[in-house]
Amino acid sequence: MRIYKFGGASIKDAESVKNVTSILQQEGTENCLLVISAMGKMTNAFEKIVHAYCYEREGLKAAQDFVANFHTEIIKDLFGEASEVQEKIDILFGKLSGFLAQNTSKDYDYLYDQIVCFGELASTTIVSNYFAKEGVENVWNDVRQLIITDSSYRDAKVDWQKTQETILQNIDQQKLNIVQGFLGGDTKGNTTTLGREGSDYTAGIFAYCLDANAVTIWKDVQGVLNADPRVFKDTQLLEQISYEETIEMAFYGASVIHPKTIQPLQSKDIPLYVRSFKDLKLSGTKVTRGVAIQPLLPCFIVKKDQILVSISALDFSFMVEDNISHIFKLLHQYLLKVNLIQNSAISFSVCVDNKFNQFETFYEELKSSYKVDVVKGVDLYTVRHFTEEALERINKTGQPLLTQINKETAQVVVNK
Ligand code: ASP
Ligand code: MG
Repeated sequence: MRIYKFGGASIKDAESVKNVTSILQQEGTENCLLVISAMGKMTNAFEKIVHAYCYEREGLKAAQDFVANFHTEIIKDLFGEASEVQEKIDILFGKLSGFLAQNTSKDYDYLYDQIVCFGELASTTIVSNYFAKEGVENVWNDVRQLIITDSSYRDAKVDWQKTQETILQNIDQQKLNIVQGFLGGDTKGNTTTLGREGSDYTAGIFAYCLDANAVTIWKDVQGVLNADPRVFKDTQLLEQISYEETIEMAFYGASVIHPKTIQPLQSKDIPLYVRSFKDLKLSGTKVTRGVAIQPLLPCFIVKKDQILVSISALDFSFMVEDNISHIFKLLHQYLLKVNLIQNSAISFSVCVDNKFNQFETFYEELKSSYKVDVVKGVDLYTVRHFTEEALERINKTGQPLLTQINKETAQVVVNK
C-alpha cells in the first residue's frame, strides 16, 4: 500500500487538481490511499468564519461567501456550469450553515473543529468527483469515522488501537482511497482536528495502521531543502536524510514536515519520500532510518521575531538552581516558548517566542526579583552540520548577540 499526501498548494486551483489526476495516472492508482488537505489557503479562510461567528457576526456572511465562491470557481473550471458536484458542495456548506444556526456551544476550540473541517470535506469531494469524471476509479471515505481521537479539540490525540482496527476493517487496500487530512472524530460523534498542517500526520497514521510500503508527500518544492526558500536564496536539495535529522530540523523550527509524522513511520521503518508535484522526473528526498545526510550541507533554520532575555541576580550572586527553576516556572506560567538557553555564572539567557503575547506581564514580574535585559525582534538561526563559512554568513545578517555551539548544531541570536 502506498500513502500519498497532497497539501493545499497542490490543489489550489483547477489546473492543479488536473495535475494531481495526471500524477495518479502516471504513478498508478491501485493499492493507494490519498490524504488530501483543504484547497489552497482555505483553512485560513475557514478560521475567519470561526472568528466571525464567535466575535464579529456582521462579518460572518462575507467570510462564508468567500469560501463558497472560491470552491464554485474551481468547480466551474473542472465540471462546467450547474454541475452535480456544485450541488454536493451546496449541500455540504448548507450543513455548515445549519450547524452555525443551531449551535449553542461557546467552546471556541470545539467550534473551530466543527467549522474548519468543511475545507477538507469540500476538497476531497471535488477531487474524488474529478477523478471519477476522468475515469480514475476511487473510494471517498469520511476520515472522521476512521481516525478515532479523544476530545481535545484542535489538538486531538489519536486512539491508536481503535484507529487501527477501524482502518483495517474499512479500507479496501486494493483500491484507490481518498481521505481528508487533518481531521479525526471523537467517540461523541464530533469532529476533531490534529493541529495546523496536520495532514502529514494523517499520512503517518494511515501508513502505520496499514503497514504501508511508503509515504510520499507531494510538495511545490523539489523535496526537503537545506533551508527555507522563502528566506534563503541559494537552497539545495537534500537527497537523503534520517528520521532523526528530520525530527531535529522540525524541532528547531523548519517547516518541512509536520513533526508528529515521523514517529509512526520510524516505528515501522516505513520510508518517507518528499517529491515535487511539478516534476515527476525528480526523485526528491528519501527519509529512512540511520542514514547519513546526503549531500552533507549546512542546514539553515530561522525563527524570526524572538526576544532575547538576559537575567542576573540583583545582588551579583550566582545564577543557580533555585533562581533558574523560579525563572522557568514563570516562563511556563506565561506560555513563553523557550528556543535557546545559555547559562554562565552570573547571567542566564533565554531566547523566547512571544506567541501568546504574555511577555510584558512576565517581564514585570521578573523585574521585581532580577536585573533583566531585553532585546526584542531578534532572529534565532539554527545551523545543523555547520561550517565556519555557514556561521560567517549568519553573523553577517546583523549583530550576533549570542552563539551556542554543540556537536552538530550551532545557534546564533542575531539583532538585525
Ligand atoms: N488544511 C490544514 C491546514 O492548512 C491541514 C494541512 O494542510 O495539513 O492546516
Ligand atoms: Mg495546508
